Amino acid sequence: MGLLARAGAELSTRAEDADVIVVNTCSFIESAQQESVNTILEMAAHKTSGRAKKLIVAGCLVERYREEIRKRIPEVDAVVGTGELQNILSAAGLETAPAPGSSPFVVLPSRPEGEAREAQGRFSRGEWDGAVADLPNYLYDDETPRILATPKHTAYIKIAEGCDHPCTFCIIPQLRGKFRSRRFESVIAEAERLALAGVREITLIGQDTTCYGEDFGLKDGLALLLEKLAQIEDLRWIRFLYAYPNKITGKLLETIAAHENICSYMDVPLQHASASVLKRMKRGAGADVFLRSIEKMRRVIPDLTLRTSFIVGFPGETEKEFEELCEFVREAQFDWMGTFSYSDQEGADAYGLEAKLSTREIERRRKQLMEIQRRISRKRKKSLVGREFDLVLEGTSEETDLLLEGRTSMHAPEIDGKVFVNDFPPEIAPEPGNFYRCQITESHDYDLVARIL
Ligand code: SF4
Repeated sequence: MGLLARAGAELSTRAEDADVIVVNTCSFIESAQQESVNTILEMAAHKTSGRAKKLIVAGCLVERYREEIRKRIPEVDAVVGTGELQNILSAAGLETAPAPGSSPFVVLPSRPEGEAREAQGRFSRGEWDGAVADLPNYLYDDETPRILATPKHTAYIKIAEGCDHPCTFCIIPQLRGKFRSRRFESVIAEAERLALAGVREITLIGQDTTCYGEDFGLKDGLALLLEKLAQIEDLRWIRFLYAYPNKITGKLLETIAAHENICSYMDVPLQHASASVLKRMKRGAGADVFLRSIEKMRRVIPDLTLRTSFIVGFPGETEKEFEELCEFVREAQFDWMGTFSYSDQEGADAYGLEAKLSTREIERRRKQLMEIQRRISRKRKKSLVGREFDLVLEGTSEETDLLLEGRTSMHAPEIDGKVFVNDFPPEIAPEPGNFYRCQITESHDYDLVARIL
C-alpha cells in the first residue's frame, strides 16, 4: 500500500470504485487457500462487469501456485509473490514495465546472513517444492513506504522474515524463505517514527521472533531490541508474538519484567504436549519441559498473561497422546489458548505420514480441548473482577452500539478476548485511541466488562 500510494495511486477499500484490484492472499492452510481463491473469483467479477481494469494477485498463494493462477484464472493480469513486492508498481501500471527479454522481476541481492545460517546447518530443509526457483528473500526496512491498516494508536512491526525450523506440518518456510532479521537500527527507526505519528502500542511479529538477530551473530537479540524499544517514551505497550518455546532465555524474561512498557505477555505456540507427537512434528520437548518453562516464566514475570495454540489431530495422534495434551492444558492454566484442526498440506513432511485422522474425529477432539480451556478461562477471568487496569479504548463495540470496547495489556490486538466498557464518569467523553484507568466489573468465558474510573 505504501509503494502504491507513493507512486500516486489513490487507495480505496471499495472494490467497485477501483481501477486496479489487489487481492493479498494467504496459503498457510487449505481453508486460507480456499478463501483466497474465492476472493480472487469474486474480484474478477468486477473486471468483467464493473469498473476494474486490472486484477493483481499478491502474497503467499502466488509463491505456491504461480503458474496455476495464471493458467486457471485468466482474469488475473499479474501476480506478485512475497519476495518481489516492488513489482506491484509495474503490475498496477504505475511504473514502466521491464524491457522485453529482461526478467519481469527485480532480482534482490541475496541475504548473506541467511546463507551463513545454512552453512552452519541451521537451515533444516533440504529440498524445496515451492513454485519459484529461488526462495523469497525480500525484507522491508524503515525506508520502505508504509500505510498502517490498523487503528492509528497501534501498529505491527515485522522484525524478521522466514523460518529455519523443520516443523513437519508447516509450509511457511517454503512460502517465506530462510530466516533473516531486519537490521537493529531499522526496527528502532521505524518504531520511533511510528511513535512520533501517534502510535502507542507496538506488536513485534515475524515467523520466528525469538530467533531475532541470530543471523547477525547476536545473542539475545530480541531482548536487546526490546530493551532499546522500551526507551522510546511515547510507547505505552510493546509486545512480541510467536515465541519458539526453546528460544525463551532468562535474559528475555528479565527484560520483559524490568520494563513497565513491555507487556507482561507471552505468546508461545506449543502445538502439542505429547513428546511422541512433538517428535513427529520435529519440534521436540514435551509436557514436563513445557511445565518447567511456564513455571519459570511466571516466576520471573509476575502477573504474566500466557497465550498458546495447539494443533489437534496430527497424523497418528492416539487417544492416549490426545489425553496427554488435555491433561497438560488442565495443568498449565493458560490465559488464552487457540486450537487448530490439523490440515494436511501438500509439500509439508507430515503429508506423507500414515494414520490420518478423520475430519470428524479431529473436530471432536478440538471441541473437547476447547471445552477444557473454556472452564479454565472462565475461572481466570473471574479472578480479575474488582481489579484495576489501564485500557486502550478501541471505539464502539462491534456487537452493540450501546457498549464501548477496549483492551488491556493482557489483550493483544485482534486475537484475544474483548473488554466491553459500559460505564464512564459523566465528565469525560471517551476517545478511541486514548488510555483510561478502568476497573473490571464482570466476567464471562473469555470477555470482560469494565467501567472507566
Ligand atoms: S516455527 Fe512456525 S513458521 Fe517455522 S516451521 Fe515451525 S510452525 Fe512453521
